[in-house]
Amino acid sequence: MLFSSLPLIQPILRAVDKKGYTTPSPIQEAAIPIIVEGKNVLGRAETGTGKTAAFSLPIIQHLNELGNKRHPSALILAPTRELVEQIKDSFLSYGSFTNLRVLAVYGGISDRPQKQKLAKGVDILVATPGRLLDLINQKSLMLKFITHFVIDEADRMFDMGFILDVTKIMNMLPKEKQTMMFSATLDREVMNLADEHIGDYEVIDVAKEKVELNHITQQLFYVSKRNKIQLLKDQIKNGPAVQTLIFTRTKHGADQLATILLDMKLKVAVIHGNKSQQQRLRALQGFKANRFEFLIATDVAARGLDIPALPRIINYDVPEQADAYIHRMGRTGRAGLTGDVYTYCSKEERLLLKPIFKELEAPLISTSHAYEEIVEVKKQQSRPFAKKQGGYKSRLSGRKR
Ligand code: AMP
Repeated sequence: MLFSSLPLIQPILRAVDKKGYTTPSPIQEAAIPIIVEGKNVLGRAETGTGKTAAFSLPIIQHLNELGNKRHPSALILAPTRELVEQIKDSFLSYGSFTNLRVLAVYGGISDRPQKQKLAKGVDILVATPGRLLDLINQKSLMLKFITHFVIDEADRMFDMGFILDVTKIMNMLPKEKQTMMFSATLDREVMNLADEHIGDYEVIDVAKEKVELNHITQQLFYVSKRNKIQLLKDQIKNGPAVQTLIFTRTKHGADQLATILLDMKLKVAVIHGNKSQQQRLRALQGFKANRFEFLIATDVAARGLDIPALPRIINYDVPEQADAYIHRMGRTGRAGLTGDVYTYCSKEERLLLKPIFKELEAPLISTSHAYEEIVEVKKQQSRPFAKKQGGYKSRLSGRKR
């Protein structure tokens, strides 16, 4: 699906295009048409799923049609100042072809500039609950004209003890409005909050990515940290010449690995958080067009990008979250194609495996200790490292398919 198939106006499609997005994420595909229609929604979505655009694009669209007002028309509550800033930035870039005015207010800094900006007029206000109440108490702000209300990360509002403030704010809002609530979990507290404060609403629950495990061969390599690079080199040299996506935990790790593979005269592209959206897009397009054999990525950078189905994924580092493992694995074995997922696990990373195994609900991973043992053999016998390379291959021949 393309963004242009969603019921969005040109200024928004232009802004999305400028950001380099090609396809809507699942939550965007599901939520945008419903929110554009004016319905209330309760969405289950974590950060990184594209939920900010899912609610901000329709809000921008509605408010753009109404024109500027003296008092805010949209209020977005979020639990932390970082999130508030991030949401404000998203509104600014998605609304860059409109005249809407966006303001972020949060505590910990002087409220004077915030009051001055409020006095000049704001269309979209993004706030933490505490500072918002302060400003209301000081009569710097009125919520009488709110037509769009969002609670982001509702579950964290409970965890951080902000829920009383949030309900106080909700009770000050006009009855006639569109409400959107997002939360990483839809547990009883969150559902009760929705039931008490939102009239009719639709639940949007973009289920966890379904991965066709039958088509994927997962292999786990217990390997010492320093042998990871040798294992990778050997697998590249001895394995099939297929396009491969390699995940590293850090941006620095991604860059380091890229340098090594480039030295091997391989065609490599890298995407991570320090690369601009333009650079990421260029890397991805080059990879899709087969100009690169390897794409090295961090999780954060890979999320939201439309990475095509691939025959081989290498987790150079074990992901810190089990769902990241599933997400990474979802980049292969799609549409009936077979795929390989290799995970390199050092001693320090073993603790991270347990939640992954739990998430997989089956011991589907075949393992090899060869590159871990080599270190010991090397230490004991002072043999040249290369002589033992055959070891892991023979062990893998009996692996489960
Ligand atoms: P969020 O979950 O809203 O915090 O978004 C996570 C990241 O994904 C942000 O960096 C967005 O800029 C990016 N993003 C959101 N939607 C898309 C999309 N459709 N395509 C590519 N990137 C996206």
